[in-house]
Amino acid sequence: MNARYVVIGAGIHGLSTAWHLALELRASGRGDGRDILIIDKADVGAGASGIACGVIRNNYFQPAMRELMAHSVSVWESDPAGFSYHPVGYLQISHEAMREDVASIHEQQRAIGYSSTFVEGSAASRSYMRGIFDDWRARGITSVLHEHRGGYANNMASLRGLRARTEGEGVRFVGGLANRGFERDASGAVTAVLTDRGSIACEQVVVATGPWVRQQWAMLDLPAVTPVRGPGGEMHDLPTWTYWALQEGTLRVDPGYLVDNQGNMPPVVHVDTDEPLFDEHGLVTGGPWGLYYKPDFSFGGVQGGYMPDKVDRPACEVAVDPYGPESPHFVVGEDFHRRWTAALAFCQRRFEGKAHLMSREPSGGIGSFTPDSFPVFDAFADNVYFIADSNHGYKMIGVGALVARELMGQRQALLEPFRYSRYAEGRLHPVSNSPFPWS
Ligand SMILES: Cc1cc2nc3c(=O)[nH]c(=O)nc-3n(C[C@H](O)[C@H](O)[C@H](O)COP(=O)(O)OP(=O)(O)OC[C@H]3O[C@@H](n4cnc5c(N)ncnc54)[C@H](O)[C@@H]3O)c2cc1C
Repeated sequence: MNARYVVIGAGIHGLSTAWHLALELRASGRGDGRDILIIDKADVGAGASGIACGVIRNNYFQPAMRELMAHSVSVWESDPAGFSYHPVGYLQISHEAMREDVASIHEQQRAIGYSSTFVEGSAASRSYMRGIFDDWRARGITSVLHEHRGGYANNMASLRGLRARTEGEGVRFVGGLANRGFERDASGAVTAVLTDRGSIACEQVVVATGPWVRQQWAMLDLPAVTPVRGPGGEMHDLPTWTYWALQEGTLRVDPGYLVDNQGNMPPVVHVDTDEPLFDEHGLVTGGPWGLYYKPDFSFGGVQGGYMPDKVDRPACEVAVDPYGPESPHFVVGEDFHRRWTAALAFCQRRFEGKAHLMSREPSGGIGSFTPDSFPVFDAFADNVYFIADSNHGYKMIGVGALVARELMGQRQALLEPFRYSRYAEGRLHPVSNSPFPWS
């Protein structure tokens, strides 16, 4: 088998890159979708993209992330039906330690023309939230950022929409074909992708393997430890890949249970607070803690998550071993069910006494994170482009468009802040006061 371009992984990034690359090739007269082959060890959506909660937001403290997200939201907005995108908006509801960070996010959203409302002060925040949900009762909140764009999309439906676009451009897809290594020439460039069923000669590789990215990284002898320059110029050796278990679940109620005061689907709710959290058995956590939730017909209830847990190496070896289990699912435990349902009831009275409705189906999953927990979009070994999104990425449907242009030889300013060299040079992204590693 051969193909000019081999894309490894049929998640949001592999599919989006293949589709946009096909468009670029055709528009430039330098080829078309038939030059591209996507392979996946399982099938479309077999990784993180197929289980993602699907939240699409701009709310990032890091300017480079915000600009990238604004670009991606435009791609979602270009075809809401085709991508199964629900533009309900997004609420970042925060405690005092985060107020200034979120105020600066709002300012910068104004600067880039991203529509949002910012409310400050505990009384004003409560009143704003009661205007959306009359049973709102979260304590310790001193700001609300309401993004009027964004919302969420249905994970598998949007992937099917992308796949249809790749097929429409003539891109080939082979499922059940696992990448096991690379053949390289004397300069180190890859000449063939080795799979469990033979090799594929190629000119360019795109690695979009989500939580399994460490496998391709290791196959190319890239470093397991990354030197990172700190603020004072000192160097720190950090593991290149770390893993977090994203704890998510669904409360089995009719999704219509969470409409707003006008009977409409509400914005996605995200709350961060430092108030102690209790349930009927006593203290759940002293804080700070955070949760997010939305009504979602495709999950069949009110779906969302809580702060992730760091996963130690042995556990992640089992969970993301491509030669072992084929799913990045991580079974969340009773502690998650208790925290999340207590947190829902902390926010809204309607969730009081509803913990028994928690679904026990496997939910949540593993995310692969970089040394600073922000993406790496960069080329290695001359002709291997890594899309390692550090688990930010279902919402980043537009990254594939930018990567496609880079593959055509046009460097993209939006991707420059995400080069691997930033670690050695100390050009790191600012760190926020959010309890989540991805904000
Ligand atoms: C529980 C959970 C909830 C999330 N919620 C959100 C959210 O609400 N919003 C958001 O923006 N992001 C969310 N994320 C993050 C987001 O899902 C990921 O960042 C994104 O989906 C990664 O996309 P990807 O295309 O890089 O990888 P994936 O979707 O994981 O796709 C990788 C593909 O590569 C294939 N593959 C792996 N190894 C090989 C191999 N050796 N050979 C061939 N194929 C291979 C896999 O089978 C898989 O299909 C969530 C993640 C999780 C786990």
